[in-house]
Amino acid sequence: MSEETLFTKIINGDIPADIVYEDEHCFAIKDIAPKAPTHLLVIPKKPIPRLVDASAEDKALLGHMMLIVGEIAKKAGVDEAFRVIINNGEGVGQTVLHLHLHILGNKKFSEDSLGF
Ligand code: AMP
Repeated sequence: MSEETLFTKIINGDIPADIVYEDEHCFAIKDIAPKAPTHLLVIPKKPIPRLVDASAEDKALLGHMMLIVGEIAKKAGVDEAFRVIINNGEGVGQTVLHLHLHILGNKKFSEDSLGF
């Protein structure tokens, strides 16, 4: 059996985390080292390593992740202005090889650039 990822250990209750959302397919936690005053991670329970590893069978799951972002952002009070980031691969800084989407809010971002 392959090694469980950090996020699988969190959702199984083996590592503590601040879980702010959970449903049958996904959960969201507060990032342990926030890069913005609001920094949440939206994570599928299925441990897909990277976005590029998702397949056609994950279509509904990926759509579900995007849909719940709005709900989670509203609950966090950042739905008027937030940024969503997915790091794909260690070359751009993906440190946890279990797909996750960052929600960053309550921070002033450049309006004309993806840089922050
Ligand atoms: P990435 O660099 O895109 O792979 O993002 C992984 C994120 O997971 C980073 O922003 C980390 O700060 C965060 N992280 C690592 N360990 C934990 C943990 N135990 N609880 C919550 N967030 C974590």
